[in-house]
Amino acid sequence: MYSDNNVIIDTSYRSSNCDSRIRHVVLHYTEHSLDRTIAIFKDPTRQVSTHYLVPDTAIDGKRVVYQFLQEKERAWHAGASSWGHITNLNFSSIGIENVNLGYKDEGGQRIWHPFSDYQIQTLLELLKPIVDRYHILPVNIVGHSDIAPGRKLDPGPKFPWKTLYEQGVGAWFDEIALELRDREVVDIRKLQTDLKIYGYAIEITGELDAQTRTVLQAFQMHFRPRDYSGAPDVETVAILENLISKYFLQ
Ligand SMILES: [Zn+2]
Repeated sequence: MYSDNNVIIDTSYRSSNCDSRIRHVVLHYTEHSLDRTIAIFKDPTRQVSTHYLVPDTAIDGKRVVYQFLQEKERAWHAGASSWGHITNLNFSSIGIENVNLGYKDEGGQRIWHPFSDYQIQTLLELLKPIVDRYHILPVNIVGHSDIAPGRKLDPGPKFPWKTLYEQGVGAWFDEIALELRDREVVDIRKLQTDLKIYGYAIEITGELDAQTRTVLQAFQMHFRPRDYSGAPDVETVAILENLISKYFLQ
């Protein structure tokens, strides 16, 4: 019981009929150094923020994560985005930025900065209790590029999603069960349908159009980063079918 202005708020009754706002974790890279990133998130004119920022090294010899906002607050990290039935994931997610410079284009080649084992271990220490606290489904731990294909590339193809999975966080396919069937023609409509079931925003057109290649690139950056050309090859189809049967058909 407490008093708010002239009204008494009686808290004797409690309903358990509710659930959490938080359904997703969105992982990013910063594109900037730690100091520059902190300056950006503190700058009110920049209109961007995050719940957590994971440095790429120890801070004064300690394993530190910076928290800019409480989890109940809505950070501005996702922008225009979509995953499953949810759009604008700022409403439903916790945003985690990882200090990493992204990529540089050099001599016609795109070179991506790697993530250190130290940083990934720090991220996992942060992530595991969040996932437990909100019962976040493995498929709802996503990259910015998954929820905004084409517009965003982070956390990029060097991000070790498989390592996260092996440590109990996020989704991965069963490599041993991959069925690399010979498919003379990939069924694009089925591929699009499966991408949509998995969570990607895609229009089912039956055509290998630009939006489909863009979504395929995002999918491949996450699950088959060795080659993210956006081509609907046999291995990509097999990985997606494996993920669907593992996370959606049981
Ligand atoms: Zn991002």
